[in-house]
Amino acid sequence: MADILMEVWDNILRYIQRHHSDCWRNWFEQIEPLSLERGVLRLAVTERSWRQYLQQVCNDRLVAAAQQVTGHLISLEYVSDEQESESDIPSISSKSSSPQEELLYFSPDYTFDNFVVGPCNRLSHATCVAVSEAPGQAYNPLFLHGSVGLGKTHLLQAASQAVLKNNPQAKIVYLSCETFVNHFIHAVERGGLYEFRHKYRYVDMLVIDDVQFLSDRERSQEEFFHTFNSLYQNRKQIILSADCSPAEIPKLEERLVSRFNQGLVTRMDKPDTETRMAIVRKKALMRGINPPEEVIEFIARKVDSNIRELEGTLTKVHGMAMLEGGVITIELARQALGDEPTPPHRQISISQIIESVTNHYNVRLSDLQGKRRSRSIAFPRQVCMYLARDLTPHSLEEIGGHFGGRDHTTVLHAYRSIDRLYESDNGIRQTIDGLVAGLTQNG
Ligand code: ADP
Ligand code: MG
Repeated sequence: MADILMEVWDNILRYIQRHHSDCWRNWFEQIEPLSLERGVLRLAVTERSWRQYLQQVCNDRLVAAAQQVTGHLISLEYVSDEQESESDIPSISSKSSSPQEELLYFSPDYTFDNFVVGPCNRLSHATCVAVSEAPGQAYNPLFLHGSVGLGKTHLLQAASQAVLKNNPQAKIVYLSCETFVNHFIHAVERGGLYEFRHKYRYVDMLVIDDVQFLSDRERSQEEFFHTFNSLYQNRKQIILSADCSPAEIPKLEERLVSRFNQGLVTRMDKPDTETRMAIVRKKALMRGINPPEEVIEFIARKVDSNIRELEGTLTKVHGMAMLEGGVITIELARQALGDEPTPPHRQISISQIIESVTNHYNVRLSDLQGKRRSRSIAFPRQVCMYLARDLTPHSLEEIGGHFGGRDHTTVLHAYRSIDRLYESDNGIRQTIDGLVAGLTQNG
């Protein structure tokens, strides 16, 4: 019986690894099947975050795999040990989940072990480790900032999980700033401010992701200010992240900016090629994929800004390999991703960006630097600012300086507007990709 059980589980694992490697994780090997009775396969899963991951991310696929492998309808139960069954896992997948439920979910992927350290993130990583070893003592508050997809959320969750590992009783509140704001509004409307304050002010560590969401929200800022002070005075750790530095968050009260700057502010930059290669290697390992080095390098050179995209690219190449017999080769990677690898970025200057954009939109430099706000001028100006932020190391202030001395909030606004359009509008995406390709290839 035990042999059959092992075999069934093993076949399920292989099936998932073959067909859904994006959700397969190397720790699946540590799961122990306990029993298969009356259509229920019970699995011993030691870590709580693993159980949550199985329940919330791959349950459907596991059930389908179990059915495929055994020919029977089987449900799965993830238990922490042989006695206890875990039925109290909050669901984060449903849109209606309350903020309370959202607080509890940590991705098992987002640990320090799974984080690749490079020059771009060394300080942020080191400070998060230090804070998790001695919350409230090392750097308080700790403020991480950087563009999207560079690992802020990963480090915030890694620090939270490390604190919990050292001290399972620690009261940690981890949430996105959006949830904090929504919860606050809800509390104001329903008269639940007392509970709200109790919940956020009596914790050992408060971790809030994407605090740029406070921008232009006066009442939430006011509330946050008091939450912050209360925790800070009690020497409780506060960790924050944002897509820009405190001073660059538009319409953020000065007193909050100064509170955020009071501890340690560190910036996360784009990873260099070597770090990107190490990240692809790590992600491949986590998914049980073993691509040849040349493919790893090809992917790392191909996707050079957002790390989330690196992972997506790996998944795509692997998915294609599965259709073609399972072997990942460089030819296949080329086929999956199209054309030749892009050569490493050379230094791109703002003048080169301006030149390409003015040529493309047929406008003059003096228009971009002038005061006109008509769309035909304002739009190319925004595109320039967007590209300058993405492709050059200049600060928002410096970029604004090239366009008639506009201030950093204008540049940030431009960046966000174009970024949104990039996601939602295919035409604009093509234009931008074309401009980027021209700039990166011809220098
Ligand atoms: P952000 O919050 O800055 O937008 P995330 O933390 O969500 O970015 O990171 C995006 C993806 O990239 C995640 O899957 C994360 O695990 C991965 N990632 C980012 N930096 C690293 C790193 N240094 N090592 C491993 N994975 C990373
Ligand atoms: Mg994030």
